[in-house]
Amino acid sequence: MKKVPFVTNEQLKSILEKYPTPFHLYDEKGIRENAKAMYDAFSWNKGFREYFAVKAEPNPFVIEIMQKEGCGFDCSSLTELMLAKAMGGRGDDIMFSSNDTPAEDFKLADELGAIINLDDITHIDFLEKTLGHLPKKICCRYNPGGVFRMSNGIMDNPGDAKYGMTTPQIFEAYKILKAKGVEEFGIHAFLASNTVTNEYYPMLAKQLFELAVKLKEETGAHITFINLSGGVGIPYRPDQEPNDIHLIGAGVKKVYEKVLVPAGMDDISIFTELGRFMTGPYGGLVTKTIHEKHTHKEYIGVDACAVNLMRPAMYGAYHHITVMGKEDAPCDHVYDVTGSLCENNDKFAVDRALPKIDMGDILFIHDTGAHGFAMGYNYNGRLKSAEILLKEDGTAKLIRRAETPKDYFATFDCFPIYDKIFE
Ligand SMILES: *Cc1c(COP(=O)(O)O)cnc(C)c1O
Repeated sequence: MKKVPFVTNEQLKSILEKYPTPFHLYDEKGIRENAKAMYDAFSWNKGFREYFAVKAEPNPFVIEIMQKEGCGFDCSSLTELMLAKAMGGRGDDIMFSSNDTPAEDFKLADELGAIINLDDITHIDFLEKTLGHLPKKICCRYNPGGVFRMSNGIMDNPGDAKYGMTTPQIFEAYKILKAKGVEEFGIHAFLASNTVTNEYYPMLAKQLFELAVKLKEETGAHITFINLSGGVGIPYRPDQEPNDIHLIGAGVKKVYEKVLVPAGMDDISIFTELGRFMTGPYGGLVTKTIHEKHTHKEYIGVDACAVNLMRPAMYGAYHHITVMGKEDAPCDHVYDVTGSLCENNDKFAVDRALPKIDMGDILFIHDTGAHGFAMGYNYNGRLKSAEILLKEDGTAKLIRRAETPKDYFATFDCFPIYDKIFE
């Protein structure tokens, strides 16, 4: 399928009159429609809730859109909890799904009444010592080990992942928690990442539903929710078929009716904690070409770099690129599109067929709405960009300013050198 930016060249030109490149642009309309589709696909389940994975795009203006559509917060750290708190999240609005968790994070999660998801059996003790009590409602993260395979060849490797409890451990954990007075239980698992297939959630749901039946039989625990977590993916490449959330919802419903309903467990709520699927396609990195270099290869240098979008450098991830205004031009040139870092992996594209690029052209790098800006860092002293929201009415709103050198040097503000830098 041809990948088309959610913003037209004309719209983008008027945004560029006001805001310099580089910046991440987000599409309110796309985010809202997708969130509605998500809720519609799971409307058969009374307690369904999507907890947006805050780490994917920790911007309150973007999260607020999903909050208005009914989503909660999936937090994994102290600062994410602080953001959720400031946005009014309390109690069941927050899932706290973290691992290797510091005590202060658990304290804030408990203060907010968040649903705490335990990554390990040893965290029962740690949590009890930290809080002086255990919450009445608790979730345990499951990791069956081995390899997770789907029929189209996509797989992931839970046996190699640091997360979750083994099968014997989750049974043991439930028994201990129940003996200590916990009244409501949940199960959580994240077994495959960025799955571009409608099969993942239903397959995962079947495993977790069967586990829930056994846990209930063996421990008598009252299981009230099952959290399918993240992992529903997006088509980064033009040749990939996007997931159909309605088929996914129907697939989960089928196994729910087959496994949970006959076991008398038809009051279980389905939770999800998607990040990538909720915002990924609805963000783009807008950057300008500033250099061309003809050496052993043809290079195009842009004013963004891996600091603004790390996925290509970190995972060799593909991000589609549209040269604005040249959408229909033939892709008869082959380029490496690079940033300025002193790292040879700082390339947004390698050997990419693109239209002939001229200096000053605007590139739209697709699918940066999740795990894009958020993964940014400050190597080479490069600064993080602004974030801009393209609102439903077509206007653009600044939702995060760009970093300045003052931000970069801020952690020296208690030393004399700080004032010298800005003399
Ligand atoms: C990262 C993460 C998510 C979101 O994953 P996506 O791939 O963005 O859907 C959800 N839950 C947990 C615990 C995570 O670590």
